[in-house]
Amino acid sequence: MKKRIILWMAFTVIAHSAAAQYEIKLREDQLPNSAAAQYETKLREDLYVSKLSDTVYVVTHYFPWESNSLVVKASAQEVVLIDTPYDTSATALMLDWVLSQFGPVRITAINTGFHVDNLGGNQYLREKGIDIYGADKTCELIDERGFQTQQQIISWLTPAQERFIKVYEGMVFTKPNKIFSLEEGIFLRIGDLDFEVFFPGESHSPDNVVVYISACDLLFGGCMVKTLGAKNLGFTGDANMSQWPVALKVVQQRYPQAKTVIPHHGMWGDMSLVQHTIDLLIN
Ligand SMILES: [Zn+2]
Repeated sequence: MKKRIILWMAFTVIAHSAAAQYEIKLREDQLPNSAAAQYETKLREDLYVSKLSDTVYVVTHYFPWESNSLVVKASAQEVVLIDTPYDTSATALMLDWVLSQFGPVRITAINTGFHVDNLGGNQYLREKGIDIYGADKTCELIDERGFQTQQQIISWLTPAQERFIKVYEGMVFTKPNKIFSLEEGIFLRIGDLDFEVFFPGESHSPDNVVVYISACDLLFGGCMVKTLGAKNLGFTGDANMSQWPVALKVVQQRYPQAKTVIPHHGMWGDMSLVQHTIDLLIN
């Protein structure tokens, strides 16, 4: 295991020798019994990238709350983003990193819900001409609750957190431009990979979808799945508390083969994260 980590670090240093130098450090929140140490590349004080494989990278943004999105290398020419960091500047930095790693690639994005942690980077992505897939219901909720969501976030911040307040106040909620029916979901073949965007029913929000990448046995559970360390469900102001565990059982039945499950907040793991979330909901 150690050997693999050293090799990867050497590769990273070489890969960046011509471009920006990035610091690499051990992730602090990894599980004590995890199989391999998880390193992360620091893009900025609040923005990190963890490499899960040659295909999948988790981008973690602390703004100030911790939030995960995914960069998926679908082929030599194609990259898929699943959700975005919270804001424009972190999203821009992430895209710079993508280009520094993979060269010129076509980028496509998917939103898994209407909250800021799902799509705060949309405005920047659309300015760059990047197509964003999102559900019809997500667009509706941006119209109906976007402003309310923005005010809510600001209310959670203290005056000492002024730099965050400024960004959230100036945020422009931007809708996805490739719309699919929430109920039907969508199946996307991009590069060499298949992405199944699936709605299992209402959960943490009325529009949260999961994304399954079959070639990687990987499920992006997003905000409906909590990390194993989570002792509560976090913000539930938009949640359907009675349907949420039902939706998670649908996910369990549909993807029993999933080996990696990525929650929106905190450390990833396996399908036990889905069961842990069900336990939090029914106890
Ligand atoms: Zn969330």
